[in-house]
Amino acid sequence: MKHRKLLMIPGPIEFTPEVMRAMGMPTTSHVAPSFVDCMGQALERMREVFLSPAGQPFIVAGSGSMAMDMAACNVIEPGDNALVVNTGYFSDRFGAILERYGARVTHVKAAIGNAPSLDEVEAEIKKANYKVLTVTHVDTSTAVLTDVKGLAGLCRKYGILCIVDGVCSVAGEELRQGEWGVDIVLTACQKAIGVPPGLALLVASPKAIETFKNRRTPVGSYYSDWANWLPIMESYENRKAAYFGTQAVNLVWALDVSLEQILAEGMDKRFARHRLMSDAFKAAVTALGLKQIPVSADMAANTLTAPYFPAGVDGSVLPLIGEVGVILAGGLLAEIKEKYFRVGHMGVVNASDILSTVGAIEAGFAKAGYTFEHGVGLAAAQAVLLK
Ligand SMILES: *Cc1c(COP(=O)(O)O)cnc(C)c1O
Repeated sequence: MKHRKLLMIPGPIEFTPEVMRAMGMPTTSHVAPSFVDCMGQALERMREVFLSPAGQPFIVAGSGSMAMDMAACNVIEPGDNALVVNTGYFSDRFGAILERYGARVTHVKAAIGNAPSLDEVEAEIKKANYKVLTVTHVDTSTAVLTDVKGLAGLCRKYGILCIVDGVCSVAGEELRQGEWGVDIVLTACQKAIGVPPGLALLVASPKAIETFKNRRTPVGSYYSDWANWLPIMESYENRKAAYFGTQAVNLVWALDVSLEQILAEGMDKRFARHRLMSDAFKAAVTALGLKQIPVSADMAANTLTAPYFPAGVDGSVLPLIGEVGVILAGGLLAEIKEKYFRVGHMGVVNASDILSTVGAIEAGFAKAGYTFEHGVGLAAAQAVLLK
């Protein structure tokens, strides 16, 4: 079975057989009654997965970056001040997107592996009249987890729109859009949502939609303009077909199946499972003597782990781990790219996936000449899983 590999990267992830079957169904028209029902239901289910009962969901063909683009271009007007809470690669990208639409962007940055404190962010907020704050819930380049609840609270206090890049967190990390008062949460379907790549997903609060409706200037992107997409989403939810751009029919079938599976598990149970899988994997990594990029446990994501290579081991170990049957990702953050690797554990991930991954890492590290007590990582993971 040399082709059977376990994909443990921070997206795309492993998908369920039911999701893959939906991908292979005969493609219908995007205005067929069966598709209209499916799309309407998927929009309704997004509200439940994002925990945003009053939110307006959008499903549009594109990747996560496209969802970031859609968030920025609809609320930013030239000259607006935007504050980026910067924890790495994807925060930089959000800054670049905001600038493209004419925002004056300020970054509050922390050292690698850390996140700016609420006090630092508040001090910056007081310096200018900010319209928008963006934050990456989990920066996939560093596995740093930010305090979205706290930041959203600050945004409410100062009347700022809070935009969360949840591409590596939605349906994995605890994120309660409605309760926490987040204005826009965006993601892509290939991460914890569990669908092959190709859909940009976003839920906007009533305040975000109102901000869009009160614009004085046209939206700088034609494809992402909510003026084009909002009536389409409303129409599908009312179970009426509508056209602006052709929907990615099979991906939407797959999305609806995956959202149904996510909701069948239940959001609280799902958050708890991600925490447990992460704790087990991180215990193994620590037992093997590896340090992680996040500076403390409460700053570490539950959807992925980013360990530094130990002395004497480098990126050439990843193909060795791949030969054993587990695919991991290399580094992404330019400054330390060669020094670390990344392991995604989100979506349908279970205890045996975690044990397989730790086993493969031990095998690869042993082949690479790293000295450790064989099985020590497996024992540490198992101890957490059996607790
Ligand atoms: C993956 C990712 C993105 C980009 O998504 P694409 O689908 O690759 O465009 C943006 N932000 C975060 C946090 C991500 O993990």
